[in-house]
Amino acid sequence: MKLSYVHLYYSTLTNSFLSKKVSTILQEFMPFIYVDVRPFTHHSQNNMIDDNYRDNLMIQLSHDNGDDSGKGSPADSHNTSNNRCKKTEIIDGFYLQRIYSRIIDDNESHLSHFHLVFEDNLVCTYDEIDKRYHARPIICGSPSIISIPSIIEGPAKPKGYYFKQMLKDILSISSKEIENEFASTFISYDDPRLTQVATGYVIQAIFFFLTNGNPFCSQYPCRLFNSHWQEELIYTQVINPVLCEEHLQIFAEAGK
Ligand SMILES: [Zn+2]
Repeated sequence: MKLSYVHLYYSTLTNSFLSKKVSTILQEFMPFIYVDVRPFTHHSQNNMIDDNYRDNLMIQLSHDNGDDSGKGSPADSHNTSNNRCKKTEIIDGFYLQRIYSRIIDDNESHLSHFHLVFEDNLVCTYDEIDKRYHARPIICGSPSIISIPSIIEGPAKPKGYYFKQMLKDILSISSKEIENEFASTFISYDDPRLTQVATGYVIQAIFFFLTNGNPFCSQYPCRLFNSHWQEELIYTQVINPVLCEEHLQIFAEAGK
């Protein structure tokens, strides 16, 4: 079935501005689909999804992520026990997706409708191999989820940044000065480039459906490249946001 509708959901004032900007860019990029932006509660009132649900998810994760399992993980660098401070909370992406699936109205549950939620918590998934939680900017599926904090915290900053942070006392330089020196090389919360980067992740989530489950591309640069470094992310989504030949063709087919 042809994709015809993209529904973007926002849950906070901050990501409402972002989602509206993303929808404008996306609509220009994909004129053959209809893009709308909705508050998170659009379909949720009858399905009992509210802040209590989200808080319960965080408590659940806090319990699951016991003393040993999350050591050294992104989860550790954030205070999971304080669920009053939303910026520092983490949440299990697949569990969140199962809960958020309840926002999808039955009339919009077929494949011509694509649903995506902008999330303002750090979204992580558990890696069975290294037994750690890792920040995930994107969870594909129905609905897809894009975590703004995970865009900031997930892909790594340049090695030189971490090196200087580690040696800042020896170098007699402050963290802030290092942040300023490397500012162009990573995305920050109030970064104007965040709109383009978030749009790129939406496009990846859409390609998950267009390609039957394969949102990423191994070719660099391609907008579907799975960036593990912030500099890759900036190059593929802001400096040179192009699709490779193969994905351009899939995109052209989708518009027919
Ligand atoms: Zn590609």
